[in-house]
Parts: sequence; structure tokens; C-alpha cells
Amino acid sequence: MKLRFWGTRGSIPSPGISTVKYGGNTTCLELLLDDKSFVIFDAGTGIRRLGNSIIQNGLNGVIHLFLTHSHWDHIQGFPFFLPAYYEKVRIKIFGCPPVYNKLKEILTNQMESSYFPVNFHDLKATISFQTIDEIEHRIGTAKLSFIRNNHPGAAYGFRIIDNDKTIVFITDNELSDFQNCHHTKREQFIDFCQGADILIHDAQYLEDEMVETTGFGHSSYEQAFSLGVDANVKQLIFFHHEPDRSDDEINTILSHYQKKKDQLKISMKLDAAQEGLSYVI
Ligand SMILES: [Zn+2]
Ligand SMILES: [Zn+2]
Repeated sequence: MKLRFWGTRGSIPSPGISTVKYGGNTTCLELLLDDKSFVIFDAGTGIRRLGNSIIQNGLNGVIHLFLTHSHWDHIQGFPFFLPAYYEKVRIKIFGCPPVYNKLKEILTNQMESSYFPVNFHDLKATISFQTIDEIEHRIGTAKLSFIRNNHPGAAYGFRIIDNDKTIVFITDNELSDFQNCHHTKREQFIDFCQGADILIHDAQYLEDEMVETTGFGHSSYEQAFSLGVDANVKQLIFFHHEPDRSDDEINTILSHYQKKKDQLKISMKLDAAQEGLSYVI
């Protein structure tokens, strides 16, 4: 599998000189499966440049777009996704209930003329919507399963297994027991992430910021780190960076956790998601 980050930022795009390294675009990941099936997770602003790249490089087959949920920072790039304007393109949009039931309505509404000059119904690509309510979904050789995140309004995390390699992507998830958005226990997340080659997890806040942000539906670096350790993942990638977090601050946080894992003799690799960076496993 080949994974590439096109948008790593949480909540709102944050371009500027302090976010050049980790990127200012909101959530979008590209995943190329071993059989060349093409998968995208989320349609934050990062999907704009991904769409341009698809048009430049050409694409055979279907674009599978999985939406973790419909919060603004995960769908706002869709109207700028160039392949949606091409007649020969087929896009399958996947979501989990209950959000799935309204996905078409949500994407249509954000392109209503008060917000955007082109109507969803005028897009030329063949766009279909599909729910993934069964436990396991297959795309080509890959198996895909999901878990309900702890996040206001519902969001889902995904586990993709392709030829014995596993990537888990969980964004917009609070790994604490705050009752407003508590659906899934930490132990269930440990099982879901167990042994993953790569775990990409929400790490929006520092521990001391959680005093103010508990219940927002996001995790701290510390919570993401201990999940990675307890689930024996091979590589953890901090994701959904806080919009005001500068590159320097993320570098400092990352080196703190690098030292911590070295001290604890933990072999897990550690990274912060960086726009434009690819991983091949
Ligand atoms: Zn988000
Ligand atoms: Zn969200």
C-alpha cells in the first residue's frame, strides 16, 4: 500500500509561514492499494491538490472516497475536487450510518448557490453513495473495517488490511470517557489498532489544553501515544494538528515523544503527519 497525506490539519485551514512543514490543508489522505485500487479518506481542503494531481497523471477505474464524518473540515474541499467535473470519472462515496443517510444531502447543500457557484447536480462525474454497515468491506484485495469514534455528531475510524499489511486511520476521536461523546471504550480501540503497521491518530491537543477541551471529541498527544504503545503498533503518526500549532511546536512535541519512547525502550516509530509525505508498506 502507498499512503500519502494531502491534508493534515484539524478544524480549519491554516496556511502561513509557521505551518509550511506540516501543512495547512484540512484532512485528506490518498491510499493506493496493492491491486492499484484508488482510495481517498476525507474531502478536506487537501483534496483540491489531490484532484489536480489525478487529472494531471490520469486515473483508471473508480475513485473510492470514504468520509469519516461530515464536519466542515472533512468535506469542505469537495466542491474543488476537479475529477468530479469530468464526465468519464466514477466516484463512489462511502459513509457509515447514521451520517451516511444524509451524506448526499450534506454535499449537495454545501454547493447550494448561497455558498458555491456550481450545483452538485451539475457535476459531470458519475457519483454514487454507499453505506458500509457490514462489519467488513472489501475493495480489491483489501479488507476494510470500521469503529465508531468518540466525537460529537458521530465519526468513524477505519482499519485497512491489504496483503498482511495494516493501516489504521482514526481522526476526530477522543480517547477519554467524557460522557457527551462516549461510544467506544479505550480497550476497544486497543483491539482495533492491535499490531497495525501504521496508526494515524488524532493528536490535536497537549495534556494541559485538555482541561479546556475535554468533550470536543479530540485526543491529546499523550493519549494517542499510549494507545499506540498499548496496541503494539509499529508506527504512530500524530494527526489532525491544531490550527494554531506551529511547525516549531510540533517539532518540539515530536522530539519530546521520541525521547520518551527511547527512555522506555519502545520500538514504535513516531511521526507527525506532514502534507505531501508518502509511506509505502
Ligand atoms: Zn476534524
Ligand atoms: Zn469532527
